[in-house]
Amino acid sequence: MNARRPIVIANWKLNGGIDLLCSSVASFIGKHYEAEIVVCPPYIYIRDMLNFLQHSEINIGSQNVSKYASGAYTGETSAQMLKEAGCKYCLIGHSERRAMFRENNASCQIKVQRALENGLTPVLCVGENQQERENNVTKDVLIRQITESLEGIKLEDGSICIAYEPVWAIGTGKAATPEMAQEVHQFIRHELSAQYGETQAQSIRLLYGGSVNKDNAKQLLTQTDIDGLLVGGASLDPDHFLTICQQA
Ligand code: PEP
Repeated sequence: MNARRPIVIANWKLNGGIDLLCSSVASFIGKHYEAEIVVCPPYIYIRDMLNFLQHSEINIGSQNVSKYASGAYTGETSAQMLKEAGCKYCLIGHSERRAMFRENNASCQIKVQRALENGLTPVLCVGENQQERENNVTKDVLIRQITESLEGIKLEDGSICIAYEPVWAIGTGKAATPEMAQEVHQFIRHELSAQYGETQAQSIRLLYGGSVNKDNAKQLLTQTDIDGLLVGGASLDPDHFLTICQQA
């Protein structure tokens, strides 16, 4: 039986200011949703969002986390700091960070470890690029990303989430079809089962991300192995985001 609570995560990326972000979620305050709703603002707005959302059920996540615990690492923010600030989740290894900030599976592995040690739920982002899909190596890429990013990490039931975000679908308006996404999600769960056992695999929430909007959300969410959505652009539009969350 699938006991995984659906989850919708907004990745606000480098967008603001605070007025735009507040207006994206203002209508959520005082309401209950079946799904767990999480917003990931830029670091600087985490406290503001916590205050703004104090009478809502929305949780806060960060878009990144340092692989360092403390010390001379200018510009970094540690998992402990994020936890203290009130975050519950943190995104790790988003494709934009892999492509533009040289993150790789090894750095993701350290970040996942740091997040878990500090009581944050890591949302590990994985996904193939266009070339890899065309070369038919999607599954190899995913196995590698998951295996290396979780190497040596002891998982508790449901202690991590994995977001499948095909790079070719992010910000392009070209979402994966629900069938295509389900096939990959099923594959990921199968791999998790092989590596961690069926109980563990069934407890991990798998999210789809990549050009999700209010028109394709429902169909994606009805797929057996898709437990939630990671939403970029559409999460800044109050109408889109509310509709997506209501469908989850
Ligand atoms: C993302 O950046 O995680 C994302 C899914 O973006 P978009 O929804 O805009 O494709």
